[in-house]
Amino acid sequence: MNRTLLIIKPDVTERNLVGHVVSRLERARFRIVAMRLTRLSETDARRFYAVHEGKPFLSDLVRFMASGPCVPMVVEKENAVEDIRTLIGATDPAKAACGTVRNEIGRDIQMNSVHASDSDANAVKEIAFFFPEL
Ligand code: GDP
Repeated sequence: MNRTLLIIKPDVTERNLVGHVVSRLERARFRIVAMRLTRLSETDARRFYAVHEGKPFLSDLVRFMASGPCVPMVVEKENAVEDIRTLIGATDPAKAACGTVRNEIGRDIQMNSVHASDSDANAVKEIAFFFPEL
């Protein structure tokens, strides 16, 4: 078993699709370990995406992530980090494989509905960012 962090982004909470994403995760046999609804400040969003400092899209991304509520969650499964990246699909919904969450409900390369940690090391850091008690 391992754990990873998923964030349901503000474009999903805005469209009342949180339950849909949770259902996709549960049907794919991820167990929910922790979950909460929160609204990031721009300062927190910038801290979370510090790895993208210097990229041209960072300011827009930070504004988007702080634009409404999001739902960070910790999920558990064998091979969780890799399997969740497969389930959500490529960053750009237009390029994400058919049947992936981003292909299904993502709006564009920025408002792509969900974030998931991309490595075990980042999963540990990102889980601690939102759920220091775990
Ligand atoms: P991820 O790991 O698939 O989420 O992709 P990245 O770590 O490369 O990017 C982080 C987030 O930044 C993505 O999920 C998008 O929300 C946003 N993003 C990535 N690339 C672009 C881009 O070229 N333009 C814009 N506007 N946003 C982007």
